[in-house]
Amino acid sequence: KNFNDLPMPWFGLDIGGTLTKLVYFEPTDHAEYMDTEDEVQRGKTIRHYLVHNKAYGETGIRDEHLQLDNVLINGRTGTLHFIRFPTERMIHFIQLVKSKGFAQMSSTVCATGGGAIKYAYEAEAELGMQLHKADELESLISGIEFIAENFADECYYYDNPLDSENCRKVIWRWSSARCSTTDSQYTNENRAESGLQYPYVVCNIGSGVSVLVVHGHNKFQRVSGSSIGGGFFQGMCSLLCNSNSFEDSIELATKGDNKNVDKLVGDIYGSSYESIGLPYDTVAASLGKISDPSDREHTRPEDLARSALVTVANNIGSIAFNVAKQHGIDRIAFVGNFLRVNPIAARHLAHAMNFWSKGTKKALFLVHEGYFGAVGCLDKLVD
Ligand code: ADP
Repeated sequence: KNFNDLPMPWFGLDIGGTLTKLVYFEPTDHAEYMDTEDEVQRGKTIRHYLVHNKAYGETGIRDEHLQLDNVLINGRTGTLHFIRFPTERMIHFIQLVKSKGFAQMSSTVCATGGGAIKYAYEAEAELGMQLHKADELESLISGIEFIAENFADECYYYDNPLDSENCRKVIWRWSSARCSTTDSQYTNENRAESGLQYPYVVCNIGSGVSVLVVHGHNKFQRVSGSSIGGGFFQGMCSLLCNSNSFEDSIELATKGDNKNVDKLVGDIYGSSYESIGLPYDTVAASLGKISDPSDREHTRPEDLARSALVTVANNIGSIAFNVAKQHGIDRIAFVGNFLRVNPIAARHLAHAMNFWSKGTKKALFLVHEGYFGAVGCLDKLVD
């Protein structure tokens, strides 16, 4: 496919189980390219609406802090904008695009995620446009590699993740790692030093969880997963704490203490379980302290939300660690919107990887959390 045939602007749409992620590539190099007047005008109209607003309709939000400038995609330079809205608003979104007249303006829309199949008919029939569909896991990996290779500050890890005083975020340079792959002196030692080289594990925590092993460019396998992910967390908080939104659930969890409701190793042993190396503060039984009906009255919603968060994070940590161990891989990249505004989960995952691997495996996090599928399907333009 020749990118010159694909009308500007370009959109990447990842229609997920809970959130739809929209990436808008705004070209900034018209002067160098022979874009038609029509293309430039069309770009201005769409740009005006998308870039002059931070919120769209009732529920659409542009994550301005994630915007990336001077991005090179398929030979064009531009700005990447990141927008999200709940997938349950998909039909409204289609109507909005129609009412603004954006659909008549030719542009290129790449789509991935389950909704790219589910809503394909409505989108294509209502808007009279063809979606360029891409596989969601392929898009996820392409997106991760594209952003991490091009933006040096994308990846980070936690030092002392569960130590409130000494915990710090440290940038992990993938881009320098990239240089070392082309180096003929490349060895396994500097491979360990240099970050997310192949192979690596990706753990995507969206509504559900997918765990993938990536062996090389376009060489990956989904090896595990779980239904206990972001959707389960929000469902539990809705039931247990009457929480109305993910943000409310995170706020509650931040104020809570899971030790008030979870049974710890120390609650059972009176100390740590030394012979098998379990510290006293390891959760032995989630919600294990509130099995008696009389406990219901004094249980705090904050503690329940915290317990739900820690339970989900630890369970995912265990699955991801086992995959990494089974495949002999040391780097595990955690992505997906469950990690949005959720450093508690990230720090628990980081601790779990450190602890169970005795420091040999590292949890890595990426700033653009849930947007990689949407970016990656854009990158499919010329793949
Ligand atoms: P999916 O593609 O399955 O929708 P995402 O990676 O977008 O997956 O993650 C969805 C999860 O992100 C939700 O289950 C929820 O836990 C969390 N989340 C973060 N921010 C929000 C939000 N504003 N609204 C709803 N869920 C959110």
